[in-house]
Amino acid sequence: MDKGLLIVVSGPSGAGKGTICKQLLDVEPDIMLSVSATTRAPRKGEVEGKNYYFMTKQHFEELIAKDEFLEYAHVYGNYYGTPKRYVQEKTAQGKDVLLEIDIQGALQVKEKYPHGVFIFILPPSMKELKQRIIHRGTESEAAIEQRFMAAFEEIDYVKKYDYCIINDDLGNAVDKVRAIIKAEKCKVTEDIEKIISRFKEEI
Ligand code: ADP
Ligand code: 5GP
Repeated sequence: MDKGLLIVVSGPSGAGKGTICKQLLDVEPDIMLSVSATTRAPRKGEVEGKNYYFMTKQHFEELIAKDEFLEYAHVYGNYYGTPKRYVQEKTAQGKDVLLEIDIQGALQVKEKYPHGVFIFILPPSMKELKQRIIHRGTESEAAIEQRFMAAFEEIDYVKKYDYCIINDDLGNAVDKVRAIIKAEKCKVTEDIEKIISRFKEEI
């Protein structure tokens, strides 16, 4: 069976990654979302096992020691990591898996899964980015400033990605992610040999 595609979405906080991924999963229900582990406290309305696996720093460090993460990083003072087993199992079953992770994590994943598709989400402007973080209303003033300042550094990393989407109109941004996934599935890879053999067998 063909392996599933690993789709990595990242970009600065407030660019709209979470919103885009949620809409994508609504219209592409066959894509499996990788739920990350974090030491950050749950926000109002967040559900254990759906938004994140919330855990203590000690538990997270035990999982690091057991090599249970595909990648992990320290982001804004907390640990975040992608559980390895889920990604390996689902992609081996031929399912596409979506990771919404920060840039440090995405670069680690790129080392391990160079055939994954790496998508960077940008806001229309820095001014709009700040407005979005403020309007989301999930961070303290200090955390907003920290995320906004980090965004200036993070933008340079877009060069390491395969695709960049400016999230101006949400519907357009989601359509672009879907188009990228479709195109990736038509890419000529080493699997092309199987397709060639299938045609030759008919002769
Ligand atoms: P991220 O996951 O990148 O940190 P979010 O998905 O939480 O960002 O989006 C940040 C805020 O911006 C949210 O309040 C969200 O509703 C809003 N938002 C996302 N995309 C758009 C868009 N295209 N136009 C206007 N607001 C948006
Ligand atoms: P938030 O606290 O807003 O949910 O997430 C903060 C940042 O952590 C976001 O940029 C988000 O993409 C990133 N993040 C979420 N899960 C993971 C993960 O498993 N690994 C890494 N490296 N970053 C993650």
